Amino acid sequence: MSDTHDRKAEVSAAQEPQQPSVCMPCHGTGKVISNLDEHSRKVTCPWCRGGGVRLTGMDAQEWQREQVASKRH
Ligand SMILES: [Zn+2]
Repeated sequence: MSDTHDRKAEVSAAQEPQQPSVCMPCHGTGKVISNLDEHSRKVTCPWCRGGGVRLTGMDAQEWQREQVASKRH
């Protein structure tokens, strides 16, 4: 019973700081192509809000809804 090494590796992996990951939907550009209407156009990426870095816990759908709602009169 000497699993000390394995357990230690597990702990160090868990303590590793979370690296900001590139936003996949926009590939880090901060812009995505919107196909909501017949004209495709670039819009600010709702997943990173234009930052190009994936934001954890981001509710993209909720944010998108707000954007659409604010555009309507
Ligand atoms: Zn993005």
